Amino acid sequence: MSIISFVLPIYNEAQNIPQLWAEMQLVEKQIIQNNSNHSCEYIFVNDGSSDNSLDELLKIYHKHTNKVKVANFSRNHGHQIAVTAGQDLTQGDAIIIMDTDLQDPPETCLDLITEWEKGFDIVYAQRSHYKTNFVKQTTAWAFYRILKQIASVDIPVDTGDFRLISKRVNNEMQKYPEKARYLRGISSLVGFKQSCVQFRRNDRFCGKTGYTFMKSLKLALDGITGFSVFPLQLISITGFIFAFLGFLTGFVYIVSSLVFGYHTQGWASLMAAVIFLGGIQMIMLGLIGEYIGRIYVQVLDRPLYTLDKIWDKK
Ligand code: UDP
Ligand code: MG
Repeated sequence: MSIISFVLPIYNEAQNIPQLWAEMQLVEKQIIQNNSNHSCEYIFVNDGSSDNSLDELLKIYHKHTNKVKVANFSRNHGHQIAVTAGQDLTQGDAIIIMDTDLQDPPETCLDLITEWEKGFDIVYAQRSHYKTNFVKQTTAWAFYRILKQIASVDIPVDTGDFRLISKRVNNEMQKYPEKARYLRGISSLVGFKQSCVQFRRNDRFCGKTGYTFMKSLKLALDGITGFSVFPLQLISITGFIFAFLGFLTGFVYIVSSLVFGYHTQGWASLMAAVIFLGGIQMIMLGLIGEYIGRIYVQVLDRPLYTLDKIWDKK
C-alpha cells in the first residue's frame, strides 16, 4: 500500500477550495482505479489567510478526517515556507506539491504518478503553455533562462513548484537548512532520477494572486543568491571593464592634449560619469548586501514557521 500525499498551500483561496476539492476527489477516484494499492492524503497549510479559507478547510477536514490534515500558521510566512511545513507533516510515499488556485490542473497529477511508478524520484510539471499577464509571463520567461545559465545546478526552465517527489527526496530536502528556501532549486540539488511531464497552466480559477511584486522579487533573488555566486563575480567583471575604460579615456585625453594641444572642457561629462559610476557602485553594494542579508538571516537561525494549530485525527 502506498500513500500519495498532496501538499496544498493556501493563502486566501476560500473561493477556490470547494472546486479544488471536487476536482481532487475525481482525480483520487482515478488514481485508485488505476492502482488499488494507492491511497491519498491531503495536507493543507493555511498560510495566514485573511478570508475564510480556514473555515472552508475545516469543513472538508470534518467530513474526511481519515485522509485530511490541516495546519494553520500563526501568520503569513510565504508560499515556500507553507510548502516546507506541508513536507514536514507528510508521511506519504509520493508527495505532490501543487498550487490551490487550479492553475496547476489536478488531472496532471495522474501523469506525475505514472512517471513515479516507472521509478523516477522527481517528476516535475513543465508549462508548455502559460496564460497570465504579459509582464509576469515575460519576466518569468527571462528569469528561468537567466537562472539556468548562472545556477550551479540544473534547474529546469518554465517549471514551478508543481511536482511529485518521492519519500526519499522529501527526507533529503529536509536536511537542507536554508531559511531562504527556493524549493525547485533544492529538489534539483538532491538529484536522483528526474522526469518531466508537460501541462497547460490555466488561469487562476477565482480571486487574485497572493504573489505580490515584492514576494515575486524575493523568490527570484532567493533563487539566484541560493544557487549562484555569479552576481558577485559580475562585480569584479564590471570593475575591470570600467577600470579599462577609465584608463583608455585618460590615455586618449593625455595624448590629445600633449600631441594635438586640445584642452577639453568637461564639467558635464565629468558629472555624468561620476553619477553613473556612483550608481553602479550602489548597485554592486546592493548585490553584496543581498548575500550578506541572507547570511545574517541564516545565522539568526530562527524557526522557519510558527504553527497555530494542526487538525490531524490519524
Ligand atoms: N500562497 C501561499 N502563501 C503566500 C502566497 C501564495 O501559500 O503568501 C499559495 C497560494 O494559495 C497558491 C500558491 O501559493 O496555492 C501560488 O500562489 P499564487 O497563485 O498567488 O501565485 P501565482 O500563481 O500568481 O504566481
Ligand atoms: Mg496561482
